[in-house]
Amino acid sequence: MTKRDFSKVRRLVVKVGTSTLTHDTGKVNLKCLEKLARTLSDLHNAGLEVILVSSGAISVGAQKLGLGERPNDTKGRQAASAVGQCELMFLYDRLFGEYDNIVGQLLLTRSDVKNDERRANLLNTFEQMIAYGAIPVVNENDSVAVEEVVFGDNDNLSAIVAELVSADLLVLLTDIDGLYTGDPRRDPNAALVSDVYEIDEALRTCAGGRGSTRGTGGMITKIEAAELATSAGIPTVVIHGEAPEKLYDLLAGEELGTLFHAR
Ligand code: GLU
Repeated sequence: MTKRDFSKVRRLVVKVGTSTLTHDTGKVNLKCLEKLARTLSDLHNAGLEVILVSSGAISVGAQKLGLGERPNDTKGRQAASAVGQCELMFLYDRLFGEYDNIVGQLLLTRSDVKNDERRANLLNTFEQMIAYGAIPVVNENDSVAVEEVVFGDNDNLSAIVAELVSADLLVLLTDIDGLYTGDPRRDPNAALVSDVYEIDEALRTCAGGRGSTRGTGGMITKIEAAELATSAGIPTVVIHGEAPEKLYDLLAGEELGTLFHAR
């Protein structure tokens, strides 16, 4: 197995999914959020430039509005995300604030990165926030994004952000240890794939379909994100998000999750 060396990582993009941020009830998983804020604050204190891509707005909003499940229609999701995004930022502001770290919200649509001028402006905003010592917290602008401009999922969005800011590493925190050779929930022989050098059809088949009912991605969008990021030279790791402090071990070179090697 390859020894991982992330000792040179300076700019880190971490994406956390809805299934990690919330319990099965749809309510916020405070334990996870607290550990995430503490770990990222500490890494930031240690000199890393940290960008967080956080999902959860629609699910948290739906829960707060007492809707039971994520709405199925566009306007329902847009309204729920407006409420949930507010709640999430309130929590991040408080939790990161406890460790004297500052967060700022960036909500994006596809048109913000497609147009050269807007892309350049956006990059300036990221750079200036980082220069000011703030941690950008990014999500899709779900409350205004309609079909033509949606990223659709935050895995792809996080890879686009990682590429935009020339990150050294992209980490996707999710509700499974990494990519398996089969579905570990059904197949006891499914094994964790620790290194991926090439993303091909066989690998996509391993990835199967959709993930939990609360998020949108699943492993397939993680592979798409990894494909995008690794082709921009950014290694991408998928690890379990229930213990965000594992980021320390990951950065120290421990072979956790699945590493998609940069191409
Ligand atoms: N932007 C969505 C939200 O905040 C999540 C998209 C995703 O799950 O990838 O609810």
